[in-house]
Order: sequence, then C-alpha cells, then structure tokens
Amino acid sequence: MDFAELEAVEGLRWPWHSWPPTTPAAASLVVPTSVLCSPLQHPTAPDLLPLLPYAPLRCASPGCGAALNPFSRVHHGSARWSCAFCGAAANPFPRLLAPDALPAELFPTHSSVEYLLPPDPAEPGGPGPPALVFVIDAATAAEELTVLKDEVRRLMQGLPEGIRVALVTFAASVWVHDLGFEGCARVVVLNGERELESDKVCEFVI
Ligand SMILES: [Zn+2]
Repeated sequence: MDFAELEAVEGLRWPWHSWPPTTPAAASLVVPTSVLCSPLQHPTAPDLLPLLPYAPLRCASPGCGAALNPFSRVHHGSARWSCAFCGAAANPFPRLLAPDALPAELFPTHSSVEYLLPPDPAEPGGPGPPALVFVIDAATAAEELTVLKDEVRRLMQGLPEGIRVALVTFAASVWVHDLGFEGCARVVVLNGERELESDKVCEFVI
C-alpha cells in the first residue's frame, strides 16, 4: 500500500499503520495511536472520498461510540454488526440490510468517508459555522516558524466566510490568543508547569 497516495486521498496521517494487538503492546508505543487530520486539504481524487447523506452509525456500547467502518464485522442473519474497537456485537442496523446493498462505510476502499448530516430539529438554523483551531509549537526553529506563519496567513485568506478561528501557541507556557479582542493584542497565558482541570481552563479562557 502506498501510504503517501492514501494520505493524498484521505487527508489523514497516522503514526502507525497497524493496531497494537495487546494492551502491553499499546502501552509500549513511544508515540500514541493517533491521527493527524487535514480536513481542508484538497483531495487529489475527490470522487474517492464518498459523501454519505446520513449520520454515522455508532457503536451503542457505553463509552465507545465508534462509527461503522470497513473493519466492523457484519452478521447478516441478525442484521447486527460487531464493533472493531470494543468488540460489542449487538449493534443493530436501522436500515434494511441486504447482502448486495451494504452500507458504503463497509467497503474496504471507504476507510474514510464524509457525512452530510440531516437537519437537526433541535437546531432549527442548522449546525453553527465550522471552527478551526491553530495549535502552534512556538519552540520550533525560527526559520520553520517563519514558514509556518506564512502558511497560516495563506490559509486564513482562503477560509470560507463565517468560519471561527482560534489560535493557541505553546512552549514553556500555553498562550491562548484572543483574536476577537479589538482594543489590543490580548492573550491568556497558562503556566506549562501547572496541571489544570479542563473546567478551570474554560474559566480562564472564556
Ligand atoms: Zn464499540
């Protein structure tokens, strides 16, 4: 498999391309299992990234919530599917499942899909505008930081109207920049050596 080619289609970069098979193997990973997602990347083959006109089908197991994907096992007889993440096997299919009409998420080529969510009755105006958070390592070499700043400026110029933007930089401390404050350059500085609960951080930042 050409991972660079796959990344160009999906906009996803993984530190590992296989799951650790055991808990000790997972614990020994130097870099945790994670994914770097580039949602605004222009895919080289947009027709390969399918747009599905419904909400993702999620695992009902408490604390899981993983979406149906090509690694899920389908039980045609009972019209249920097994979650590849937590192993729960009793997830029902709300749509009628026929062997020749499997949901697109199950195709091996559809490891990444996009969902076009139906309108939410609880949100009459539809979902709010998308939000974009730039998180920048300020301890990067000055030369790389200059290139990064130019790239962020270039990205900002190409953003759709109405998108919400946040900027966080970090080195020894974490700087949350208040971009909406017009009077002066305003920033909330969080000490990097103090561990804060998330609600405390919200109190400082909001
Ligand atoms: Zn699950």
